[in-house]
Amino acid sequence: MNKVKLLFSEKLSRIYAMALVLIIPILIISNGLWRINIYQRNIDKSLTEKAALTIGIIASTMNQNLDDSTNLQTKINQIKENNTAISEITIIVPTANDYPVIASTSKDKIGVNLNDIDLISVWSDNATIVRSAKNTGVTKAEKYYLASTTIKDLSGNKEAILNVRINDSQIDSLNRAAINQSLVLLVITVFLIFLLLINYFRFFEYFVKFRKIQEVDKMKDEFISMVSHEVKTPLATIKGYLDMMIHGLTGKFDQEGKDHLVKVFANVQRLDILVTELLDVSRIEQGRMQFDMQPVDMNEIMKNVLIEYGDQAKNKGIEIENNLNKPLPPVFADPDRLQQIFSNLITNAIKYTVKGKITVLYTIDKNKINATVKDTGIGISQSDAKRLFERFYRIKNEKTMNISGTGLGLWIAGAIAKHMNGNISFKTRENEGSEFTLTLPIIRERNK
Ligand code: ADP
Repeated sequence: MNKVKLLFSEKLSRIYAMALVLIIPILIISNGLWRINIYQRNIDKSLTEKAALTIGIIASTMNQNLDDSTNLQTKINQIKENNTAISEITIIVPTANDYPVIASTSKDKIGVNLNDIDLISVWSDNATIVRSAKNTGVTKAEKYYLASTTIKDLSGNKEAILNVRINDSQIDSLNRAAINQSLVLLVITVFLIFLLLINYFRFFEYFVKFRKIQEVDKMKDEFISMVSHEVKTPLATIKGYLDMMIHGLTGKFDQEGKDHLVKVFANVQRLDILVTELLDVSRIEQGRMQFDMQPVDMNEIMKNVLIEYGDQAKNKGIEIENNLNKPLPPVFADPDRLQQIFSNLITNAIKYTVKGKITVLYTIDKNKINATVKDTGIGISQSDAKRLFERFYRIKNEKTMNISGTGLGLWIAGAIAKHMNGNISFKTRENEGSEFTLTLPIIRERNK
């Protein structure tokens, strides 16, 4: 089911990435072109207005010169010379059917009949029109404006048509440069987006791998959990029979036979601890560990633990000191889980202490109780101390070589303490000893 989900989300993400590859550049390009278009239209509009204004001014200075064609020709030549933007001025005096040019800065046009539809409408409507056009040259397309209006006498009667060709090559080239710049920016942006998308694909591959690793990790956890469950029951049976045999309930064994049985029992016990701890790890990781939170007297729990492991310490010649008679305010915890933490700290202190003593003491700090298990054991080096609470981490050196363990106890104790709103801290010095402190809040609040 999860695999199907993973494959589905993988497929979706691929489609999503492909859509991004297409949509983002398309959006950027169309946005760029749209803006360029608006820019172009604004420029056109302002140039058209400028052309209309220019031709209006020229027309108003012309009405006195119309009768004298030589003077008129001189005048338009002067205007053209003084205005670099003006490339041609033509004056047409329409007759009933024709539109002959009576003066023009382009000599070949003088006398020519311009039967242009636009000129006809300028004349008939007494209007001003500006047309933009393109002159396709050999190297570049040059833009110009053709403005036409009527020249009127002082009483407002139309006398002639003024036709001016305005070249705005400067603005046109600026305009072209701006458009080229935005096109370059557009190409760079699209290129960068492609680079980003390539990175996205790479991250996406990592993401898929990460999801697969998570899946495999989960399968591994489920496998460990299943195997541990299956092993737990036969182990309990083996332990039960061994116990009966050691205590002579199934027949008599000589001393050597009993010693062998005790050794077998100790190994089965180790196996049982390993299986129990593996089960705890998978319960914690899958959030399945049950906590029965209630007010608990820590003293009671620790006393039980010391009774359970007292002999083990005694057999190693280790003395255990404590201040357990001090009355303590209750903490909000699960008593079994609390016992599990203390068992781990005490067995570790016994295991990793060769000679000396273990001290169990409590201190109260504001709203918290600190329960410390201190030993005079082998201690831990600074580099090992950093990894102490990692899963399966065991310190490997000459001193720990013959001490059995799983490297799971502290990890489990730390996780349980955290779940009960507490934590475990430690201080240690190599060859001098260690002290592990469980801190839990005293206040009776909902810890779960
Ligand atoms: P283990 O089952 O190996 O004891 P733990 O998770 O309880 O696993 O402890 C992890 C490692 O931390 C141990 O292997 C040991 O090297 C080190 N350690 C834990 N407690 C002590 C201690 N009191 N003194 C010295 N080393 C300790």
